[in-house]
Amino acid sequence: MRPGHLVEVPFGRQRLQGVVLRVVAEPAVAETKAVLDLVDPQVALSAAQLALAVHLAEATLAPLSTCVNLMVPAGLNKMGDFRYEAAGPLPAPQGDRTPGQQRLLSLLQRRGALHGRQIDRALPRQNWRPAARELSRHGLVSIQPVLSPPSVHPKVVRTVQLARAPQVVAAELDRIGKKGSQSLLRRQAILHFLMREPGPLDVSWAYAESGGDLQDLYALAERGLVILGESEVWRDPVAGIEFVPSEPPPLTRDQEAAWEAILAGLAQAAAGLATPPYLLHGVTGSGKTEIYLRAVEEVLRNGGQAIVLVPEIALTPQTVRRFLARFPGQVGLLHSQLSTGERYDTWRRAQLGQLGVVVGPRSALFTPFPRLQLIVVDECHDDSYYQSEGPPYYHALQAAVAYARLAGAVCVLGSATPDLTSRRRAEQGQWRYLQLPERILAHHEAVRAHAERLSVRPEALAYRSLEGLADGRDLPPVRVVDMRQELKAGNRSIFSRALQEALQQVLEHEQQAILFLNRRGAATYVFCRDCGRSLRCPRCDTPLTYHSPPSTQETAPPAVQPSPPGLTCHHCGYRAHLPEKCPQCGSQRIRRFGTGTERVETELRGLYPGARTLRWDYETTRNKGAHDIILSHFQAGRADVLVGTQMLAKGLDLPLVTLVGVVLAEVGLNLPDYRAAERTFQVLTQVAGRAGRSPLGGEVILQTFQPEHYAIQAAAGHDYQAFYERELAYRRELGYPPFTQLVRLEYRHMEDVKAEQAARQLAGDLRARIASEDRRATEMIGPAPCFYARLNRLYRWQIILRGPDPASLLRGRPPGEWRIEVNPPNLL
Ligand code: ADP
Ligand code: ZN
Ligand code: ZN
Repeated sequence: MRPGHLVEVPFGRQRLQGVVLRVVAEPAVAETKAVLDLVDPQVALSAAQLALAVHLAEATLAPLSTCVNLMVPAGLNKMGDFRYEAAGPLPAPQGDRTPGQQRLLSLLQRRGALHGRQIDRALPRQNWRPAARELSRHGLVSIQPVLSPPSVHPKVVRTVQLARAPQVVAAELDRIGKKGSQSLLRRQAILHFLMREPGPLDVSWAYAESGGDLQDLYALAERGLVILGESEVWRDPVAGIEFVPSEPPPLTRDQEAAWEAILAGLAQAAAGLATPPYLLHGVTGSGKTEIYLRAVEEVLRNGGQAIVLVPEIALTPQTVRRFLARFPGQVGLLHSQLSTGERYDTWRRAQLGQLGVVVGPRSALFTPFPRLQLIVVDECHDDSYYQSEGPPYYHALQAAVAYARLAGAVCVLGSATPDLTSRRRAEQGQWRYLQLPERILAHHEAVRAHAERLSVRPEALAYRSLEGLADGRDLPPVRVVDMRQELKAGNRSIFSRALQEALQQVLEHEQQAILFLNRRGAATYVFCRDCGRSLRCPRCDTPLTYHSPPSTQETAPPAVQPSPPGLTCHHCGYRAHLPEKCPQCGSQRIRRFGTGTERVETELRGLYPGARTLRWDYETTRNKGAHDIILSHFQAGRADVLVGTQMLAKGLDLPLVTLVGVVLAEVGLNLPDYRAAERTFQVLTQVAGRAGRSPLGGEVILQTFQPEHYAIQAAAGHDYQAFYERELAYRRELGYPPFTQLVRLEYRHMEDVKAEQAARQLAGDLRARIASEDRRATEMIGPAPCFYARLNRLYRWQIILRGPDPASLLRGRPPGEWRIEVNPPNLL
């Protein structure tokens, strides 16, 4: 038995699974129990993985077991099976062979190679596995893991199409549900959609378009309006994505410089020397992915393995496809739609060295590669790298950096908008900073072919030649539109005149547009339509949050006093009534901001009745696979305008998009969180990067009531450095990361008063602890109700600790029942 082995141990009357952490000569306790059995003769966790688990437990204040669990695939004991085979003709029985060993050997002699489950049936109620391992040690039995072949199970998808001619269906539109009901609206939307789309379609397309479900389709089928059918798809994740093998292009000069640095790092790591992480900072389309591909290629050539983390497979299909194309047969994909069995198979293949690369979201970091040499974190600023359902509450960026150090691998972190803390590490030399300032459009050839397909005259193309085979494009121009002026000019629409004109142009030229609405933070803050300012806490300058009177549907238990309607500061707990006048300029036009994607879509349809619109938000993507469907729908030119939220900011490539409109740029700025400006800058920059990736060029329009704000100014100028310097100064002044560290303690309870009581109690204890241990550098903020004051019917209260190392105050004695997060990405 060795560290990393998965074992079964007695616990009370149960058998539980555990992982061997250390083997000690002298147990520290008097009474010990023997380990019952090995679950898997292969070591499940490598030494580097065990070290990572210990590190994570330490850094995130989480129980060690939860960190070890990250690395053991679900159902390992149930999924895994082994193939047992006798090595040759049975040697004469020797005196030291036990009856159990003898029985197993005879069985394998008689029946040939068997799976463990078959042996279980042949030798019922016998603990034959230790005997098998003993025989294997003497070379008499071979044991190999059994894996199902990688791509098998066909999956059936349901399809739907119109059963009657569109005019016939159109005449029925009012008779398919109760007047004024939601179901009528959904069914009408389904039929409208099918009328535009001849031929059978995957039902989830219809769901995504209409918000409807199978019940609606049944209702329509009963009325003879639609036909439901079936067609087969392959569920293998790799086989499902088509790809063409591709050759690496020659690098541009900037790429060459970055690549040389990383190559040197790989050589250094191979020589056993510690190598600091690389921060690869380059705008969208600057050629970062090409660098990752080179690095992976180099690692594979040296017999090593690589982990590539992406925010979400469904949102980064192009990146994934490029890895599949460059390294056919060597890439394993991990994503949320894999079954437990598929996940287990990938895990095992990686462990056996049958895979060279794994691409996936944050959990892919725990792939058990025995010869890991490279970890890439693409779009490393992305919040999906934080595990907010824990414990452990960990950030995959930090975990990747730690893991690379422990495993002797190289870590490459790529982003167009690195988070402030990462950028600062690179600035101070702890990490290496690599920059790709130029945007690459693509090969000359690809550009020309693309332009031809779009029937664009060559002289209309907006690109210039870089060295080698690549062409360059500058970032799209950004226009900032002051919405206060629109109001003054009498335009009450949510679209400015500039945006309306630009949309008109796009529709006339049959190009595509994206309208982006920041969902985070919408409809919760109050601002002045004349001066643009939002209302802020007089004590800590945090934006105040407006809580509307509780709606009648939400039934609070009678004992609980609902929090009074009005303004709340979610940092310090300050409360106030909604003022009648703006404290800045005295205007009475203070309003809440409240616009959803639906409203944007409705207004759009009103202005441009002929436009085909598509909504991409949390509502329309609830169904499995809906991301892919909406995206491919839009990419195939089946819609003119895509209205969406945060998902638009991820790494997708939409070549026909020539206009990006941001409905209200400052929305995210008014969240009561110290990273609000940073996150707003990041999302605006990423969204703006979606325009002008086509040879047709493109334009970005930012609408805002706060055109002076530095985050908006910097995003409009594509000026990361300006934002970085300004924001860093602000953080230094107010004492936020990277100049301090934070710990957030959160308590949830069905009753608001109970949560508040618990929070006040712990706050008292912590205050006493800080005083008695004379930790003057550690500061406590709160308690206060969280911004999202109620989640899943539970009230949330929080306490923030701030200082050089606030986690040390809790290490070894964390308060039970509290959710504890070290440096969480937000304090909402
Ligand atoms: P990023 O990952 O920074 O968004 P990519 O690596 O995806 O950038 O590069 C943007 C586009 O330029 C892609 O279409 C890619 O194929 C192409 N490209 C990248 N590097 C080169 C190169 N050296 N020569 C030609 N085309 C390139
Ligand atoms: Zn005002
Ligand atoms: Zn406050």
